Amino acid sequence: MCTRCERLLSASSEASAASPWQPRRAFLLAAVGAALSGPAFAQVNVGNASVARNLVPADRIEAAGVQQYGQLLAQARAKGALAGDNNPQLQRLRTIAQRLIPFATPWNTRAREWKWEVNLLGSKQINAFCMPGGKIAFFTGILDQLKLSDDEVAMVMGHEMAHALREHARARMAKSAGTGAALSIGAQLLGLGQVGDLAARAGTQLITLKFSRSDETEADLVGLELAARAGYDPKASVSLWNKMATASKNQGGLSFLSTHPSGPDRIAKLEANLPKVEDLYRAASGVDV
Ligand SMILES: [Zn+2]
Repeated sequence: MCTRCERLLSASSEASAASPWQPRRAFLLAAVGAALSGPAFAQVNVGNASVARNLVPADRIEAAGVQQYGQLLAQARAKGALAGDNNPQLQRLRTIAQRLIPFATPWNTRAREWKWEVNLLGSKQINAFCMPGGKIAFFTGILDQLKLSDDEVAMVMGHEMAHALREHARARMAKSAGTGAALSIGAQLLGLGQVGDLAARAGTQLITLKFSRSDETEADLVGLELAARAGYDPKASVSLWNKMATASKNQGGLSFLSTHPSGPDRIAKLEANLPKVEDLYRAASGVDV
């Protein structure tokens, strides 16, 4: 049990002695705490997922993700830009995904129902994404131009999966649909349907959704842990972002960086977190770090 739950449970027993209505309040607090905490085993510290995301129904966002992914694949197929099942690069991506996915569910139990999918799109763009609901795509540009190793691919994939697992798109939708006042509990009760509708309409923009720098930090760290648990070298997170920075210098604005903004301390934060996941990597891979 996490320390938060222990605190809330002990608050609950103290409250029952103090007042007859307090246990219900404490129970509600405990329920909220349990719903928002990350997994108890997590080595990286990313805190609770955004409360704002609760204003938008998760199933609506996931359905929008699945629908848009289908449209994108259909467009790529029509242009002859969708890699076939026998494509070696696609097979490589799917193998890496198969190793990462078993470690995803503890970060978000909804992922148990997701139908994970991985596809490769022929495009020079340096880009990759995972839409809500577990729909992953890589562009050939990111593999070819950055010459990514398997470990580095796992870092990109883990990062993208983390955005979906931590429901960053859902939180962005809630924040852009609602004002600050809409995030209060009162407005939540009054305006839930309206915010949900706005989110569904804004859902057309999932692929170009720009994450915040705090979303990016979370995705970096959760992705780092997912990849380490799957046996991929955590140090590849540093080499990946160095490659990304070099490509950005040489080629100007990368599509990946326009939707995944880098803070000045991205690499430093990753380096500081390497010791937290090295044991996981060592245990999963058998490689001595
Ligand atoms: Zn990102």
